Amino acid sequence: MPSTPLSQDLNVLFITSEVYPLIKTGGLGDVSAALPAALRELGVDIRLVIPGYPKVLAGLRYKRKVTGFPELSHFPPFVLWSARLPAGKGASKGVPIFVIDCPILYQRVGGPYTDTAGKDWPDNALRFGLLSKIGAILASEASPLNWRPNIVHCNDWQSGLTPAYLHFFQERKVVSLMAIHNLAFQGVFPPSALAQLDLPATSFNINGIEYYGDISFLKAGLYYSDHIITVSPTYAKEIQSAPLGFGLQGLLASRSDHISGIINGIDSVEWDPATDPYLAQNYTIKGIAAKGINKNALQQMMGLVIDPDIPLFGMVSRHTYQKGCNLLLQVAPFLSKMPAQLVILGSGEVGLDRELAALEKNYSGKIAVRIGFDETLSHLIEGGADSFLMPSHFEPCGLNQMYSQRYGTPPLVHATGGLLDTVVDCTPATLADGTASGFLFYEMNPESFLAGIQRVIDSYHNKETWVSLQRNGMAKDFSWKPSATAYRDIYLSVLSRKLK
Ligand code: ADP
Repeated sequence: MPSTPLSQDLNVLFITSEVYPLIKTGGLGDVSAALPAALRELGVDIRLVIPGYPKVLAGLRYKRKVTGFPELSHFPPFVLWSARLPAGKGASKGVPIFVIDCPILYQRVGGPYTDTAGKDWPDNALRFGLLSKIGAILASEASPLNWRPNIVHCNDWQSGLTPAYLHFFQERKVVSLMAIHNLAFQGVFPPSALAQLDLPATSFNINGIEYYGDISFLKAGLYYSDHIITVSPTYAKEIQSAPLGFGLQGLLASRSDHISGIINGIDSVEWDPATDPYLAQNYTIKGIAAKGINKNALQQMMGLVIDPDIPLFGMVSRHTYQKGCNLLLQVAPFLSKMPAQLVILGSGEVGLDRELAALEKNYSGKIAVRIGFDETLSHLIEGGADSFLMPSHFEPCGLNQMYSQRYGTPPLVHATGGLLDTVVDCTPATLADGTASGFLFYEMNPESFLAGIQRVIDSYHNKETWVSLQRNGMAKDFSWKPSATAYRDIYLSVLSRKLK
């Protein structure tokens, strides 16, 4: 680990388009709440900047206007508020936050990125251009604050232009990091948007923000940032080639010396079998047998045959190609003939919802399906199932495989991305050294998946093996602290590299 500068010298501006509990559409909202809180515990002075959507402004209690902010001729007028994050499940209160109050761009009914019909806001380039620009100004000499970051941490395409602004307009030394939470969304806009964004025409270049004739905010961030971070070491490698590079693999491969993968943490208060209020029975590593009460409750609730000895598989996910729903549909007829049961919870693409729902009718008593989003049931599945399925085609990090291990529910996962990095396959060697915590299958085809299911069933009936797997998983540390420590170490090493 680098020895200088000291962590108390780390001032980080964390630019994000969502943060729980103010506004959340996906995993970025959770990361933006948990990671800065964990970094502050490590002594890092990290502050957030976020657009002032209606829900964000409504959630702020004590806000103070930041005076003296320079006028930005390319963007509509705005006010910058300084406040602190409110408390919420999984978010520790008090993290400082700057909120951009620009009514023309952010005060509207709908989501942060789309209208109520799910259509992208037509002025998203300007909306997130402003977020990126303000992030860059807060890191510059023009900032009216008496606090200056030495690290700017950008998240996904919405703050992807910040490293470009820093490159073209920055007079003081500041390190920029680009974090990828979802490479599938890249913030691509027609070249005509350039005129609005206060970037030089020369930036519209293959060595710059140009992407197949358009502008890509994410590409800008990946090109101009000093370092790139994504949410698992394996995914960091996978995105450097097709198909998981989503068109950016060439650029990512050319920067491979400057890409790191850090696994996300989980909310270990919310997801704790010892205290989880959604379980029929709480349990700990010392009393795993009590987990059976949850299995009984789940079988009853879902209309499955009540049987304490039949291995019960669970799956909770968005119903999309990414999550491997097609593979599940292919193996379900075979699984229904095996001595096993399956509970499925999720929603997503209409066709997949329909086909998955039909499994319950065809295999009544053995396969149960609930279409929808149900937080309570998702906890009971983690607590009540014996094993959890994640046959994802790709998975940048994934959360459920970590919840499963913490709940003594060894997962069966496709060996990809964060799944490969967080689940240790059950083998004689890993059982012997006490690391085995689940099952991996390597080929994304029905035979390989079914062979994995058969391995789970066999291990389940070997009580000694099964309890070892459960104990090993439950003893693992999935909290944010190790991840936050890894982020802090990267801040330090990139800073010392740049300031050399
Ligand atoms: P992704 O962010 O790609 O959807 P993750 O595994 O990282 O996948 O996180 C998804 C989270 O959302 C998990 O906590 C999962 O349990 C939860 N989730 C997904 N679908 C549902 C659902 N239908 N009901 C309840 N929780 C769900």
